[in-house]
Amino acid sequence: MPIHAPRMSTMQIVPLSAFRDNYIWAMTAHGQCVIVDPGEAEPVLRFLLQHDLRLAAILITHRHNDHIGGVADLLEAWPVPVFGPALIALVTNPVKANDCIDLPGIDARASVMEVPGHTEEHIAFCCGEHLFCGDTLFAGGCGRLLGSSTAAELHASLQRIATLPESTQIYCAHEYTLGNLRFAQAVEPENEALKTRIAHCNALRASGLPTLPSRLGDELATNPFLRTEEPDIRNAAERHAGAPLGSPAAVFAALRAWKDTF
Ligand SMILES: [Zn+2]
Repeated sequence: MPIHAPRMSTMQIVPLSAFRDNYIWAMTAHGQCVIVDPGEAEPVLRFLLQHDLRLAAILITHRHNDHIGGVADLLEAWPVPVFGPALIALVTNPVKANDCIDLPGIDARASVMEVPGHTEEHIAFCCGEHLFCGDTLFAGGCGRLLGSSTAAELHASLQRIATLPESTQIYCAHEYTLGNLRFAQAVEPENEALKTRIAHCNALRASGLPTLPSRLGDELATNPFLRTEEPDIRNAAERHAGAPLGSPAAVFAALRAWKDTF
């Protein structure tokens, strides 16, 4: 890899690997870079140096350390605005639902969605057709319930994401796709779109490539947590729970609990 690659002129979105299976997303344009959820600083600093980029801003989706752990070190090198939920101490520019923010340096805007569930303060950034959704919606799955939020709240958050255009690209923060799709297949073994997706994602991982971003339309066709109104999914969830489930939110809660022990 050359020390100074050519400057990028139109916006590109690049995954930076962190820890075992995190992705830090980097939006770059005009020699500037906006970073989403830097759990560690070193992969970001290396990327900036390799591509001769200036850090222009940091976006934070939620409070977990694998999403914010690198912020303090990055701010020492680059004192830039940090956009995120108000309760996170390192956030300099608190944002809330429906805020629209100009992303410094890269000539792009993002709107903010509140998507509680994985944690109660969790937000997502929608930048055109690119959705940075942290640990809320994963490719083939969804985040665990780790805060004080309820399954009904996480279900509602996913339902809101599901109303975005099907062409929306989902930039979640972990490479959990193959494990999620194994669970999806246990829930819905006859889903042909799911079989095709598993083959495709297996091929990507075998080539060392990320399975992300994913397309919302593919999530709607294969992700059980977005398909709680499908009769086959309801039947599978009821079989596993051993009881009738009254609403799509109850189906969602049963699926989430099933996946926790899968
Ligand atoms: Zn998290």
